[in-house]
Amino acid sequence: MNQACGVCGRDTVFTTCADCRMQLCDRCARFELLAEGCGTVVPAYFCPSCVSNPLANPNAIFWQMKEGK
Ligand SMILES: [Zn+2]
Ligand SMILES: [Zn+2]
Repeated sequence: MNQACGVCGRDTVFTTCADCRMQLCDRCARFELLAEGCGTVVPAYFCPSCVSNPLANPNAIFWQMKEGK
């Protein structure tokens, strides 16, 4: 069983990406709050590529500005 971060390779897996299920360490995980329906907010973690992907994250535009991609 592979327990290494899929981004940087550190062996401290903290969570998995909500979209592609890649294993992520605490440094590579990007925390996001997703609005679902009316007034419900769901916490989620994404990998650095999914967090700025509009197909995976409805708030991707903010990350594109923040991360300069
Ligand atoms: Zn990592
Ligand atoms: Zn991902």
